[in-house]
Amino acid sequence: MVKGTASFGKMGRGYTHIVCRRCGRRAFNVAKGYCAACGFGRSKRMRRYSWQNKKVNRVRIV
Ligand SMILES: [Zn+2]
Repeated sequence: MVKGTASFGKMGRGYTHIVCRRCGRRAFNVAKGYCAACGFGRSKRMRRYSWQNKKVNRVRIV
């Protein structure tokens, strides 16, 4: 994958993710119909994991 001029041709080809109406992040996959960040459309509960934030001495570091 390239980051420069060559990949700019792929822009404007439509969108993969739209703004999620549960978590507000632009992570709702249009084709799959669920949010990659909170799991909206996939599960009733919020998608969250213990490893989301690094913990040092059991204290969360944001
Ligand atoms: Zn979401």
